[in-house]
Amino acid sequence: MSKKIHDVAIVGAGAAGCAAAIQLKRSKIEPIVFEKEEIGGLIWNANFVENYLGIPFGVKGTEFARLLRNHLQFLKIEVQKEEIVTIKWDKKKELFQIASYENEFHSKYLILATGTEPKKLAIVGENQLIEKEILFYEPKNIPSRSLSRAHIAIIGGGDVAFDYALNLSRKNNHVNIFHRGKKSNCLPLLYQRAKDSKYIVIRPNKNVRQLGIPDMQQSSRKALLEFADGTSYMADLVLVAIGRKPNSIINTKLFQVPIDKEYLFLIGDLVNSNFRQLSISAGDGIKTAMKISSKINKI
Ligand SMILES: Cc1cc2nc3c(=O)[nH]c(=O)nc-3n(C[C@H](O)[C@H](O)[C@H](O)COP(=O)(O)OP(=O)(O)OC[C@H]3O[C@@H](n4cnc5c(N)ncnc54)[C@H](O)[C@@H]3O)c2cc1C
Repeated sequence: MSKKIHDVAIVGAGAAGCAAAIQLKRSKIEPIVFEKEEIGGLIWNANFVENYLGIPFGVKGTEFARLLRNHLQFLKIEVQKEEIVTIKWDKKKELFQIASYENEFHSKYLILATGTEPKKLAIVGENQLIEKEILFYEPKNIPSRSLSRAHIAIIGGGDVAFDYALNLSRKNNHVNIFHRGKKSNCLPLLYQRAKDSKYIVIRPNKNVRQLGIPDMQQSSRKALLEFADGTSYMADLVLVAIGRKPNSIINTKLFQVPIDKEYLFLIGDLVNSNFRQLSISAGDGIKTAMKISSKINKI
C-alpha cells in the first residue's frame, strides 16, 4: 500500500483522462493516472478520425491513440498499468481510497474517465463463440492472424458498426453488416462509403436470433448466425457492435462525497450518453483539470 497522498487520481487514459492529465501538468500538478489496457482508450478501434480540430485530412484511430500516448510520454506523465476495482471515500480524512487487485492508493481529488463497455447480444451461442475466439466486441482484440480474407459478420447498424466494417474491409476481408431495422442509423457519409465498397454488403431486416458452431463440430473455426426470418449465414468471425454502456466502477460509498466541495468528477464517454466524441471527452478533461487546479493552487 502506497502511503503517499496524491492530489489528483485519474482512472482511465482515453482522450478524457489524457486531456485532464496534460492540463493538470500545465498547472504543475502531477496526477496519478491508472489505465487497465492501453493509453488512448476506445479510439484504438476507430477506422479514421476526421472531425478532430486541426487534423484536416484525418488520421487513423490507431495513429490518434499513439499521438495521445506520445503526448503523455513527452510531458513525462506516468501511467500506472492497473485495473481499479474498488474506490471508497474516507469521510474523516476526506480522501479517496483507490484499489487495484494488488495495490492501494490515496488521493484528494478523483477523476473517473473510464469510458464505456460494449453491450452484449445476450442470445444463445454468444459465450461459446467468445470462448472459441470467433466472436469479438472490438476490432483491436481480434488476433491479426485471423484477419486475412476472412468472412466477417458485423451485427449492428450504427456508426460504430459501419466504422468497424470500413476498418476491417481494408484488409481484404469480406464484411457483411447485419442490422435489425429496415434502415441503418449511421452517418450518411459512413453508409455511402460502406455501400461503395466492393468488400462490404449491408443486410437490413436481419434480426439475429441464435449463434452457434455449424454442424455442432466442436473443432470448427466458424460461426453460424441464425436469423428470425429463418435464414442463416456462416462467418469466420463475428463482431458485435450494438451499442455501448457506461463503464462505471462507482460504488454506493462514493455517494457520501460532498457534492459542493467537488472532489469527484465523472467525465468523457462515461457520462456523455449520446454525445460520445473525442473532442467532447478532451474538453471535459481540460475543464475538470482547470477546476481542480484552481482549487489546489487557489487561483
Ligand atoms: C469505432 C469507433 C469510431 C470512432 N470514431 C470517432 C471519430 O471519428 N471521432 C470522434 O471524435 N470520436 C470517435 N469515436 C468516439 C471516441 O472513441 C470516444 O468518444 C473517446 O475515445 C472517448 O474517450 P474517453 O476517454 O471518454 O473514454 P475511452 O476512450 O473509452 O477511455 C476510457 C479508458 O478507461 C480505461 N478503464 C476503464 N475502466 C478502468 C478501470 N477500472 N481501471 C483502469 N482503467 C480503466 C479503459 O481501458 C479506457 O482506456 C469513435 C468510437 C468508436 C468505437
